[in-house]
Amino acid sequence: MSEKILVTSALPYANGPIHLGHLLECIQTDVWVRYLELTGRDVIYVWASDTHGAPIEVNARKAGMSPEDFVAHWRERQKQDFEDFLIGFDIFHTTHSPENRKWSEEIFRRLQEGGHIETRPLEQWYCEVDGRFLPDRFVKGICPNCGARDQYGDVCEACNKAYASTDLEKPYCSLCGNPPVRRTSDHLFFKLSDFRDFLAAYVDKEGRLAPAVRNSVKAWLDAGLLDWCISRDGPYFGFEIPGHPGKYFYVWLDAPIGYIASTEALLGAERAVADYWDRQAPSRIVHFIGKDIVYFHALFWPAMLEASGLRVPDRIQVHGMVTLGGEKFSKSRGRMVTAREYLDAGIDPESLRWYYAANLGPEPHDLPLTKEELKNRVNAELVKTLGNFVSRALRPIEKDFDGTLGTPSDDPAAREFWAKVIELSSEIRNGYEAIDFRAATQALVQMGFEANRFLQERAPWQRRKEGDAEGALQDLSLCANVAWVIGTWMSPILPRAGAKLEAMLGGVRFDPARIAAGEPFPLAAGTRIGPVAHIAAPLQDEQIDAIWPSEPSAPHAAERDEQRGVADARPRGEG
Ligand SMILES: [Zn+2]
Ligand SMILES: [Zn+2]
Repeated sequence: MSEKILVTSALPYANGPIHLGHLLECIQTDVWVRYLELTGRDVIYVWASDTHGAPIEVNARKAGMSPEDFVAHWRERQKQDFEDFLIGFDIFHTTHSPENRKWSEEIFRRLQEGGHIETRPLEQWYCEVDGRFLPDRFVKGICPNCGARDQYGDVCEACNKAYASTDLEKPYCSLCGNPPVRRTSDHLFFKLSDFRDFLAAYVDKEGRLAPAVRNSVKAWLDAGLLDWCISRDGPYFGFEIPGHPGKYFYVWLDAPIGYIASTEALLGAERAVADYWDRQAPSRIVHFIGKDIVYFHALFWPAMLEASGLRVPDRIQVHGMVTLGGEKFSKSRGRMVTAREYLDAGIDPESLRWYYAANLGPEPHDLPLTKEELKNRVNAELVKTLGNFVSRALRPIEKDFDGTLGTPSDDPAAREFWAKVIELSSEIRNGYEAIDFRAATQALVQMGFEANRFLQERAPWQRRKEGDAEGALQDLSLCANVAWVIGTWMSPILPRAGAKLEAMLGGVRFDPARIAAGEPFPLAAGTRIGPVAHIAAPLQDEQIDAIWPSEPSAPHAAERDEQRGVADARPRGEG
């Protein structure tokens, strides 16, 4: 049986609108999935809306909605944004689903049966006014290290020092402002330390993690694994734990289980297990995540799967964070562009897809988003280099040769040009395979340069004027074939422009297998092309200026992740 590839993006939190920073990950995932589909691989793209946790419960209440309605509202809006950015997932499910409840209970049961769950008392901050335990995010106070006021309970934004929420001076509840009290309650812990040896071998396997990521995970292993509190007290929006009334699964327990639940929602229980999640399944599981949630995906999650007798992920692809003007996205600081604002300004979603692909390597480096570079890349690479070549090659065929291709040129210079196209194609293919889209786009733009140069040197418009119409058509026909190659390689990143170009080129289906030395030209003599149109539009200053926030003045090192409350790569007991 051929390999069945299951690809996921991390589950976006159903707590607000999607911004451009969030889109990096699903664009990266989608480009890779589309590339695999293009090469005929058996792949599914599965994810869901992450719907549980204390922030949802609190924010729903603030919005005057039930948590169910609140998460359904944000899931719908986010899904629309993803679709409008051409994210071609097979399912965008929800973690608040019967499948996810079933799997969360089932995996918990297996962890318990294996002796990996322990009950211990835990002392936490409790607000008597609000009648709730306060996660680190809901406690504020004075930083014990530098004395800065109004700092959260886990890390200081001013001096970046991490601490326990009990270390805060003059703590207060961030919901009502009153001082909290200490209160003890029993909690369930997953004994992560049982899996130390398994995890050491897991992260060491070649190809599983990029070297930089592997090193940081190994440092965590060396520092020692703390057991993980997987329960939360009510009020909480989540699944109540069987046999433990008033206790709920921590959102980070059921969120990754959402990958399995979503597979089941897509394919049914039997196939989800047999084809993908069983240890013997003929599958390859690849997670795309941001560097802020590596701990959950490279340690907790494989340990849970291993303990449950399920398949562990084969690859965890980690990306860095998008920065806007050198800093993280921040709603409170007015440094944010939402997906919807971008679309409403009339900007082509493919421009952002191109920008991200052109900047995404395999390592988790942060990715600065600036309007100058966005504009330069779109206007110089997509419009001037690739788009113009396509127009310059195809328009004369449409205008002077009735839109019908001839036999491509076959003199030494033409053969050399085509050989270069084949050579660059293999660089592009390698880039896609390695999830190194920066390498793939660089080689593609290089192909555009070579193609423009060939066209310029041969000047078929000149040849035709000088009476060599046949020679002109041969050169243009070779260029039409190169346009087909360019379309093939751009289509995972720019599915809409790719489809447009494919249709223009006689509807001859893009297929990388046909781009190889010794293969016949994909577009044979007699192929009818047209009508020719632009494949990419230039980006205008007014469009970007309308939505882009002004550049921030003072740098701020430790901006919090406002969506989730995980400021640090290593999780604490919040949410
Ligand atoms: Zn401080
Ligand atoms: Zn309170």
